[in-house]
This record gives sequence, structure tokens and C-alpha cells, in this order.
Amino acid sequence: MFYCSQILSHVFTDIALVDEEEDRLYGDKRGDELPPELDSPEKIRKKLQELEEASGKRVKRATKHLIEQYAHGDARQKEKILEKLDKAEEEITKSEQRAVSLSDPEARFMGNKNHMELSYNAQITVDHDSGIILANYVTQECTDRHQLQLQLELVEKNLGALPEGTKVSMNNGYFIGANLWYLEQKALDGYIPNSKQAQEQKGKKVEEGQYSQDKFVYDEDKDHFICPAGGQLTRKGEYMYDDKPLYTYYGANCNECPFRAECAGKKRIRVITSDGYEAERRRMAAKMRSDLGKEEYRNRKETVEWVFGNMKQNMKFRAFLTRSTKGARMEHNLVCTGHNLKIVWGKLGRNVPALGKISGSIVNLASQVCGLTRLSYSRDLLVCSQD
Ligand code: SF4
Repeated sequence: MFYCSQILSHVFTDIALVDEEEDRLYGDKRGDELPPELDSPEKIRKKLQELEEASGKRVKRATKHLIEQYAHGDARQKEKILEKLDKAEEEITKSEQRAVSLSDPEARFMGNKNHMELSYNAQITVDHDSGIILANYVTQECTDRHQLQLQLELVEKNLGALPEGTKVSMNNGYFIGANLWYLEQKALDGYIPNSKQAQEQKGKKVEEGQYSQDKFVYDEDKDHFICPAGGQLTRKGEYMYDDKPLYTYYGANCNECPFRAECAGKKRIRVITSDGYEAERRRMAAKMRSDLGKEEYRNRKETVEWVFGNMKQNMKFRAFLTRSTKGARMEHNLVCTGHNLKIVWGKLGRNVPALGKISGSIVNLASQVCGLTRLSYSRDLLVCSQD
């Protein structure tokens, strides 16, 4: 269902050129005659084969279908197809992907288990005690890194400010320094494992070098690192990466160090790079190593994973039926509302009159019922709608 934009633009350029040449040769006719090079399915197939051979890329079924539609369509249909291609081109440029779906150009390739799929990234925040979804959002972003703040803002929009100390747990996808800093600023009790801890939680053993960055002690007040051999690394450089500042710390005593080869490799001195959130990262790692941290993280599965399970297994919501980000957001919102209604229905003992008396939103009810002391975040990749 995908297409290679270059191939398509060649095809349509060819068609346009043929059209022009035909006008020159035959003058005005009906206006819907096909270019002679493309006036039969055989010729279209031959043209596509030539393009495939020239580009070395396979033209997918949807592309062929579109070209046939263009060749046989009237002026309005042709205009619609060109609009579709313009949109696809725009999304290819925006996404920096090599291809997009013609059915839903706003979907993005995302890694789902062992393969890539055109999907949207659906985010939910769930109250631990009730299982009610307090906020949801659908994003085109392939990772979860920048979703934490938005989810918290949505929860607070729905419920008002979260009490200090509210527990919030997320998986490793949300572990970036800026998120940890944000949680601390809001005095929320976050639980997010780093990648090593996430692997260990899954029972995998992660080997760490004796001189890996985690083995260096960070002194927040003095803003320097102390290496395993007792040497100091001080901040000397700063540069921008991905619009964010990164800081470099250089070892002061590496020249005479007997462990230099193991620690710094072929370099003369050991250099450490950090993003300015080293202290937050260390605090979170220490919390997640504690028994409490491990237990809270285990609780997360009970809080949030079953909600996606319910939506996918019981409510049969496995792929979006609508297209575009706007459509996917609306659809996801409805599914989340359905999930919440089922919970409220259960809590009210299936009492129809009581259900009718609920004023305000379900999330307000959730805050009254549950007291909101523990939230969990999760994401799921949901495949985009296709023809
Ligand atoms: S090479 Fe430098 S940073 Fe590494 S252990 Fe030796 S003194 Fe410490």
C-alpha cells in the first residue's frame, strides 16, 4: 500500500509530457483520451516494469492501481489523485521517511516488536485503583520520549493539579533527563527505569564495563565526575546536538593512569558527555534499584497493561478504522471513553438511573472515586487504516 515517490513523480511527469505531445500532434479532442503510451493495461504494466527496472525498486500494488486510476480517470479524479500525491509528498518531506502510505500519509513507520509498520503512537494515562483512563493522545512521534509532559498536562486539564507525591510510573521509553527534571519540578514521585534496569526487569543480564559512565560518581554541587581510579573529570566543553546542549567533561589525571587503555581506549584522556540532567538521572536510577522502586514498577503492569489488553482483545480495537492524525485521535478518544464507561457501569452495579445522574466527565468521577495516588503511563502502536 505504499509507494516510492520518485517512481510516481516519473510516471506522472511522463504522462504530462505525453499529454503535451499529444496536444501538439492531435489538437483538441474530447480531453479524456489516454496518452497513447498508457492507453491500455498492458502498456501501463510495461511502463511500470520499465520504471521498476530503471529505479531498481518494486512498485507496490496501490501505486499501480493509482496510476491506472489516473490514466482512466476524468479531470476531477485526476485532480483528486494529484492532491493525494501532493499530500503524500508533503508528509514524506515532514517525516523524513522514504515512503508513506497513500491511504493515510500521516501515519508513520514505527517499530512494532520485530518489524516496522505504518502506525500511530497511542498514549494513555491510567489511574491505578480504578483502571480509568485519565488522559489519552495519539501522536505521529515514533518514540515516547516527549510524551510524558503532555500526558501530565492533559491529566491536570481533566482533573486539576495533581497532588504532590502522586506516584507516576512509566517504562524505559520515557527515560530522558528532561522528563525526570519535569517530574521533580512538579514534586511527583516518578518511577522510570533506565535501559539497563528495564532489561534486568525482563530477566536479562546486562554486562557493564568497569569504566562505563555509570561507574563514575557524579558530584552535583561541584558539577564534576570522579572516576573509579579516583581521578576528576571537569566540565570543559559545550555543544548543541538536536537543538539541545551537551556538556563534555575531561579527565585531569589520565596521562599517568595505568587503566587508561581500558577506560579511554585509544584516546589520550577520558571524555564523558552529559546533557545537564546527570543528577536527576542518578537519583532516578538509585530509586529504581531500591525494593520500593522495583515494586512500584511491577505495579505498573497491573495498572496499565490490562487496559490496552481490554481495548484490543475485548473491544477488538486492533487498528484504526479512520485516517489522518485527527481521525485517529477522535477514534482513540471514543475507544478510551468506551473503556471508561464499562468501568463506571461496573462500579455503579449496572444501575441505569445512577448512570443517568452522573454529572460532569467520567474522569471527574474517577478523581472522586479513586483519590488518584498512583498513575501509570503506557503506549501502544496501532496500525493505520489501509484500503
Ligand atoms: S583514564 Fe582517566 S578517567 Fe579513566 S580511570 Fe584513569 S584517571 Fe580515571
